[in-house]
Amino acid sequence: MSQVFNFCAGPAMLPVEVMKKAQAEFVNWQDTGSSVMELSHRSKEFLVVAAKAEADLRDLMAIPENYSVLFCHGGGRGQFSAVPLNFLPAGKSADYIISGSWSKLAAIEAEHYGQVNAIDVTDKVNGQIQVLPSEEWRLNPNAAFVHYCPNETVDGIEIFDIPETHGVPLVADMSSTILSREIDVAKFGLIYAGAQKNIGPSGLTIVIVRNDLLGNAQLTTPAIMNYQVLAKSDSMYNTPPTYAWYLAGLVFEWLKERGGVKEISKINKQKAELLYGYIDESAFYKNHIEAKYRSLMNVPFWLTDDSFNDEFLKQAEAQGLMALQGHRMVGGMRASIYNAMPLAGITALVAFMKEFSAKNS
Ligand code: PMP
Repeated sequence: MSQVFNFCAGPAMLPVEVMKKAQAEFVNWQDTGSSVMELSHRSKEFLVVAAKAEADLRDLMAIPENYSVLFCHGGGRGQFSAVPLNFLPAGKSADYIISGSWSKLAAIEAEHYGQVNAIDVTDKVNGQIQVLPSEEWRLNPNAAFVHYCPNETVDGIEIFDIPETHGVPLVADMSSTILSREIDVAKFGLIYAGAQKNIGPSGLTIVIVRNDLLGNAQLTTPAIMNYQVLAKSDSMYNTPPTYAWYLAGLVFEWLKERGGVKEISKINKQKAELLYGYIDESAFYKNHIEAKYRSLMNVPFWLTDDSFNDEFLKQAEAQGLMALQGHRMVGGMRASIYNAMPLAGITALVAFMKEFSAKNS
């Protein structure tokens, strides 16, 4: 088959250079005679891999020293439970900003562990989805924390400005935006991200947490979800997902070689502008998110006549443009264009969309 571009929202494309490197050292890693996944997580060899990955991530995101970086199990949804278990004491409530599907699910899960104040910040004006500016969010000054999702993977809504919470710890689900653009980590109490988009394979979750927030977990918190336990044990309280950790390390190296987050964010912007630009000029396709809140990573779009949907997907796949079907909750199409998606993937997609529209208009 000729070149394939995979637009899946996650597990998503990984850089081909990373996979080739992993392939070359799969069976015999650095002349140890073993695969990296066969090594003890406590072996001196793996500890080097683990420390290097953490150091590279710290470097890429300029993570301040008073933050711990945890390599966990359990995916993004695991953190939907871990965050309230660790940060929501009895008698307090937490503000959950709802800007789409994932932030809503996070709030629903948190309700199992304490009092949740859900704040819907989206609005539809003239058919366009808008997000209320964060200064207008009715935050509770006494909340234990504020949770939000800067990039809604399903809905394609991205909040670029970091909300001001006046000292209340800000928690962000960055599963589908981490490492796509520069952010100031010091503005957050905790950041979490499932790995399967911009970091590596599924099975690994990254948590970046400010150390002074540790140590207040609810008594029933499972030890493997307790941030303090994980921080004290360098994420080795139990056996961590070692192979995913190693692969994440290769992705971090790949990103550093390409000039880091600053450089990749320019390419990400270019990719998104190309795709949204074409959608906007075409009468055949539409996107109904206000331009200011359009996701750089997940671009949903709808065919004006949805009876063409199946044919669109079939012909796209025949051209190597895979996994463009939108999430079942919102329908239509979605192109997830994470860091590993080259500009050539977007050029190929836009060329196909033009051709398909010309044939069917
Ligand atoms: N949050 C966001 C923003 C996501 O995109 C996803 C998965 N697509 C999740 C949470 C859930 O992640 P997981 O499947 O790793 O639990």
